[in-house]
Amino acid sequence: MLRDAVRSLAEAKIAPFAAEVDENARFPQEALDALVSNDLHAVHVPEEYGGAGADALAAVIVIEEVARVCCSSSLIPAVNKLGSLPVMISGSDELKQKYLPALAKGDAMFSYCLSEPDAGSDAGGMKTRAVRDGDHWVLNGVKRWITNAGVSEYYTVMAVTDPDKRTKGISAFVVEKSDEGVSFGAPEKKLGIKGSPTREVYFDNVRIPADRMIGAEGTGFATAMKTLDHTRITIAAQALGVAQGALDYAKGYVRERKQFGKPIGDFQGLQFMLADMAMKISAARALTYQAAAASQRGDADLTYLGAAAKCFASDVAMEVTTDAVQLLGGYGYTRDYPVERMMRDAKITQIYEGTNQVQRIVMARNLP
Ligand SMILES: Cc1cc2nc3c(=O)[nH]c(=O)nc-3n(C[C@H](O)[C@H](O)[C@H](O)COP(=O)(O)OP(=O)(O)OC[C@H]3O[C@@H](n4cnc5c(N)ncnc54)[C@H](O)[C@@H]3O)c2cc1C
Repeated sequence: MLRDAVRSLAEAKIAPFAAEVDENARFPQEALDALVSNDLHAVHVPEEYGGAGADALAAVIVIEEVARVCCSSSLIPAVNKLGSLPVMISGSDELKQKYLPALAKGDAMFSYCLSEPDAGSDAGGMKTRAVRDGDHWVLNGVKRWITNAGVSEYYTVMAVTDPDKRTKGISAFVVEKSDEGVSFGAPEKKLGIKGSPTREVYFDNVRIPADRMIGAEGTGFATAMKTLDHTRITIAAQALGVAQGALDYAKGYVRERKQFGKPIGDFQGLQFMLADMAMKISAARALTYQAAAASQRGDADLTYLGAAAKCFASDVAMEVTTDAVQLLGGYGYTRDYPVERMMRDAKITQIYEGTNQVQRIVMARNLP
């Protein structure tokens, strides 16, 4: 039922803008409006904070169905979860009361600021600094590749509070866009997900009240990693969606396109490609939903399963979208058909929230 509702909404209100959003690299405002008016922009927020209180599997289905038509737009529910989960996992009741209702209502979006120019895979090597000054913390530094930067009102920011303790000297904070000293870089010119703004965020003597710290001092890196255990599953969902979108398009195309006097879908070579694409998507979906169930229950093998789902589903998305372009021949290689965009969009799912090399490191350290 949820899937049908999101699919109808996505096809009616998001799909018609997907190509133009990509072409002009502009924010998919129509998608945000449609998601907010149907309460689908941040379904993970608990009911006590005015949210839908959806479980991890429901959040996956929302993201999957939006990504099936527009991967950029699926970053809206995905990053709202990524940005706010640190507050939900480790934040004080006051912080939750202060920030979650606005997110649930659709008045504010949340971004997640971990990566820096010189600290990507090795996020623990970050340099952004927070120094205590009476009842305040003062932040200085640069975060890079921040999704929805400039659009979001709230930012979960990981910063070094004790440089001698490496990852145990990192703390998490909520910073607001309107805090003095916060500014943004130019939008990155990307290969795909062009409708999702990615910018640097600068902190220049940003002075925030001490109660904006999320959890205890020194727990920020642990909170950031715990968050990723849950949210990598949303990237798997995005990968699944984009792969399904490409398969659905290619399936229809091979029935219409004729060569050698018959639909190309009659050739067994192409039927086998479609069968492999569908099989890989089914396997990725099973693993992603298994990981979502583990996320909901807080199972001990969540770290492994979240990494495995993200890694497997994103590799499947890359293979399936590339095969979809192949099935459309020369037409698939143009922007007149959506599979070219889907192939470019799929690539990011192998890179962010930890590259797939990093996912393999995470899995190897947490073998079931
Ligand atoms: C469009 C986009 C949106 C993003 N959104 C966000 C966001 O909202 N918030 C945020 O905090 N970050 C975000 N990121 C950052 C993203 O998570 C990082 O780009 C990613 O973690 C990789 O870091 P890096 O780019 O510095 O690559 P590097 O760490 O420099 O990696 C380069 C290569 O080396 C490999 N590598 C590195 N270390 C190892 C190792 N130990 N073993 C094997 N291989 C290794 C990597 O896999 C990769 O292939 C985003 C990135 C992009 C491109």
